[in-house]
Amino acid sequence: MSSETLSSATDVKNLVHPYTNLGDHLNKGPMIIERGEGVYIYDNHGKRYLEGMSGLWCTSLGFSEERLVNAAIEQFKKLPYYHLFNSRSNTPAIELSEKLLEIAPKSLAKVLYANSGSEANDAAVKLVWFYHNALGKPAKKKIISRLRGYHGVTVASGSLTGLPANHQFFDLPIDRILHTDCPSYYHGANPGESEEAFTQRLINNLEQLILKEGPDTVGAFIAEPVMGAGGVIVPPKGYFEGVQKILKKYNILFIVDEVICGFGRTGNMFGSDTFNLQPDIMSVAKALSSSYLPISATLISQPIYEKIAEQSDEVGVFAHGVTYSGHPICAAVALETLKIYQDKNIVSHVQEVAPYFLSKLHSLSAHPLVGETRGIGLIGAIELTQDKASKKPFDPSVKIEKLVQENAAKHGVLVRGIRNAIALCPPLIITKEQIDELFNGVEAGLNAALETVE
Ligand code: PLP
Repeated sequence: MSSETLSSATDVKNLVHPYTNLGDHLNKGPMIIERGEGVYIYDNHGKRYLEGMSGLWCTSLGFSEERLVNAAIEQFKKLPYYHLFNSRSNTPAIELSEKLLEIAPKSLAKVLYANSGSEANDAAVKLVWFYHNALGKPAKKKIISRLRGYHGVTVASGSLTGLPANHQFFDLPIDRILHTDCPSYYHGANPGESEEAFTQRLINNLEQLILKEGPDTVGAFIAEPVMGAGGVIVPPKGYFEGVQKILKKYNILFIVDEVICGFGRTGNMFGSDTFNLQPDIMSVAKALSSSYLPISATLISQPIYEKIAEQSDEVGVFAHGVTYSGHPICAAVALETLKIYQDKNIVSHVQEVAPYFLSKLHSLSAHPLVGETRGIGLIGAIELTQDKASKKPFDPSVKIEKLVQENAAKHGVLVRGIRNAIALCPPLIITKEQIDELFNGVEAGLNAALETVE
């Protein structure tokens, strides 16, 4: 047995793969990735792929940034671990929090670390509850999320996630979590409804939900500026303006999930900057360290912090935190990531290449399989349809998105099929030439899929 066949068999024998059809995996086995260079990765057969999804929407600086490797090595030598419990601290965590707050929306004042986006959102939920208990409003606990929103997989963040597969068979959502409409005009508009009218209907629905539940029972609303895993849904004009008015009106906190949008993805440092959001709580992960090491953070406003501090004084301690909160090596790598964003002027780079990326994306709308293309900055999606006029999706058994995804991979480009759409989220360092390569692969994938279904 070759070593490749052996490691594939060992994988199948021992591993439970996240977000994988486990039955299929037994037959197909894994795709083993061995190394990376810039925006490319190489599998164990030496085949090169342009990583059009930055892994899981995360490796913003590509796969071979030496400065991040060196930052980790240096910190390993100095202090490989220390925690933040009980007033202990470490320099990378301290410096990172200062740098993060320097670039974050001005409404935010303090940083709480964890390891993953799910944990950051889980902490956000707990903070909303703790805060309202401290305020003497123990009933104001419900959190409104959105259908198709993605906020993670832990018991609380998985409940916030608005996708059926994350709930079915997991006994989620837990109580106190509600879901309102997904702001996709393409999927949700009534026949003949204008985008403006659609947006207003969604805002009205949100207000009605709050009124039905009772504003004194709703503590927070959570949203990604652009929905990622739900299919890259860019909100219609005026949507967040309307949402924020309603939240203010009923004194409801706004949690902004910047786990994908944060650090340049939408053409500004944060999605909050792009859509003029004023978060009370904001979660970040992924591109915080270009995903070279696991680290996430929940940023909170000064009023929330003050109330929590006051309350924890009374309880004796703020009894929340994980072993690796503010891990010095992860923090050192994240700090270096933020410095690289600054040195490379990554936001300007995104602003420079995004119009090209978006024009290539939108040029695919003429393709017979494409119902809609949507995107902003360096994130986009191609909605596939059986019939452009009626927007009829393909039957799930056709697995149209998998056909496109697999055929694009044959052409050396990795993208991700989500329901009836193809998502694109390349590393932020991508060049115009590489954008050409990305779309050549996607188009080849679309053409091959078309041949199969015709
Ligand atoms: N929030 C958003 C917007 C995400 O896209 C994700 C993951 O894709 C998460 C939260 C969860 O992050 P993690 O997978 O690190 O737990």
